[in-house]
Amino acid sequence: MSTSEQTGPRVALVTGAGRGIGRGIALALGERGWRVLVNYRADADSAASCVREIGEAGGEARAIQADVAASEGRATLLREAIGAWGGVDLLVNNAGMAPRQRVDILEMTEASYDEVMGVNLRGPLFLTQGIARHMLAAERAGTIINIGSMSAVVASTSRGEYCISKTGMGMMTKLYADRLAEHGIHVYELRPGIIETDMTAVVLERYRRLVSQGFTPIRRLGLPQDVALACVAIVEGHFPFSTGEVINIDGGQHLQRL
Ligand code: NAD
Repeated sequence: MSTSEQTGPRVALVTGAGRGIGRGIALALGERGWRVLVNYRADADSAASCVREIGEAGGEARAIQADVAASEGRATLLREAIGAWGGVDLLVNNAGMAPRQRVDILEMTEASYDEVMGVNLRGPLFLTQGIARHMLAAERAGTIINIGSMSAVVASTSRGEYCISKTGMGMMTKLYADRLAEHGIHVYELRPGIIETDMTAVVLERYRRLVSQGFTPIRRLGLPQDVALACVAIVEGHFPFSTGEVINIDGGQHLQRL
C-alpha cells in the first residue's frame, strides 16, 4: 500500500522536537495537516508546548519521552510511535548534540566521543533500522530525513567527535537510500550551516560577526524555519526521482570560493 492510499493524515516522528530545528520541523508539519509525534529526552515542558502550539494551529500532536541514544529508549519510541496512530510515514532524525565542551582534538576524551556518537549516529542509525522494518512489514511507503550538518565536510578541530558523527550520518543516508528505494522509501539528508538555536547560542556572536563579514554568500544566520521548509518541500513530494540526496541549508557556506 502506498502512503497516498492510506486513510487519515500522515504521521511524522520528529526526534528532539521540543526546541530548535526539530521544533520548527514539527510545527511546519503540524500546520500542514500531519499528525506529529514530538520526541523529547528530558524537557517535558518544551515538548508539551510544541504539542500545544501544533494543536492551536489546527494540527494533532503527541509527545513521546525517549532517549534515542539508548536501545531501551529507541524500543519505547518505536512502540509508542507506531502505536499512536497505527504507523509512521516519516521519520526525521533531528535529535543531536554538540560535545559538552569544545576541546582540541588532541585533548578529546573517549567519553565525549562515545556520548556524541551515541546520540548523533548510533541512535539515528538503529532508530531508522526499526522504522524501516516497520514500514516494510506494513508495506508502507515512507520518507526518512536525516538532519546532518555542514560539519560532515567542514573540519572543526575543537569538536572532532561532532564532525565525525555527521560524516557517518552522510554514509548512513546513502546506505538506507540504496537499501530502501525499491520499497518506495526515500531517504534525504538536510545539511544545515549555522542556524540560530540553543546549540549555537554559545558561539553565536562570533558567527554573527563572521557572517556579516561575508563568511557565507547569503549574509544572515539560518533559522529553524529554513530547515523546516526544506523538509516540507521533500514530504510534499517534489523530489520523486531523488533519493540519497543531500540538500545544503547553509546560506551557500559549502561553496568553494576564491
Ligand atoms: P538543540 O540543542 O536546540 O536541539 C537538539 C534537540 O535534540 C534538543 O531538544 C535535545 O533535547 C534533543 N536531544 C539531544 N539528545 C537527545 C537524545 N539522546 N534523545 C532525544 N532527544 C535528544 O539543537 P538544534 O540546533 O536544534 O539541532 C538539531 C539538529 O540539527 C542536530 O542534529 C544538530 O546536530 C543539527 N544541526 C544544527 C546546526 C545549528 O547550527 N544549530 C547546524 C547543523 C546541524
